[in-house]
Amino acid sequence: MRLDKLLANKAYGSRKEVHQIIKDRRVTINGSITTKKDTHIDINVDIVAVDGKVVSTTQLYYVKFHKPKGYVTAVEDSNHPVVMDLLPPEFIKMGVVPVGRLDKDTEGLLLLTNDGVWGHSIINGNKHVPKIYYVEFEGTLSDEGIQRIKKGILLGDGTQCKPAEIESVSLHSAHITIEEGKYHQVKRMIGAAGGTVTYLKRLTIGHIDLSGIEEVGSAMELTVEQIEGFK
Ligand code: URA
Repeated sequence: MRLDKLLANKAYGSRKEVHQIIKDRRVTINGSITTKKDTHIDINVDIVAVDGKVVSTTQLYYVKFHKPKGYVTAVEDSNHPVVMDLLPPEFIKMGVVPVGRLDKDTEGLLLLTNDGVWGHSIINGNKHVPKIYYVEFEGTLSDEGIQRIKKGILLGDGTQCKPAEIESVSLHSAHITIEEGKYHQVKRMIGAAGGTVTYLKRLTIGHIDLSGIEEVGSAMELTVEQIEGFK
């Protein structure tokens, strides 16, 4: 792996900031200062340090998974099956954990990684990553309810949601796009607008979708472009 990519992955800054750190002679490889940003690092052998502090070169993994309903988004649960029960062994070995969560009865796109900084940056909301859900519901959403969702709906317990996008697919289904990840958010938004969710599926997280993992329960590694697309 290139030195600048390693440091950027390890959250030492943008590529540009990392190049400056290297130029400033703050980086050593096996104890010798390097000023070459494209130096190849063997992550199993080389010891990289910034300002004398060793940078962990553990391999980072990023996975997308098509979660079925009936599984809890957790690594372990004493009462219910968990998404890790379905992940192919090669992904389990990577030490990845779910990024955020989907409810037990929700299907769709779930990301997993062992890169805590990356995972956190996607779920903490600062990046405003839009997530698109397909939702089916009983009852009808009034025009007024739809307008409240678009403007930022107030949930029954007083929680204020940010403005969201909603497009009807049929009388009882819609696509809804949110940038937050509050507890049961889509179900509660639909509830506050007059419907009761009967089916929920997450279709996208930012630029990542279910292509290549159309089959429920399947998983694949993300490409470099997909990983860096959030940074
Ligand atoms: N909103 C919900 O209500 N449930 C989910 O699983 C995800 C978003």
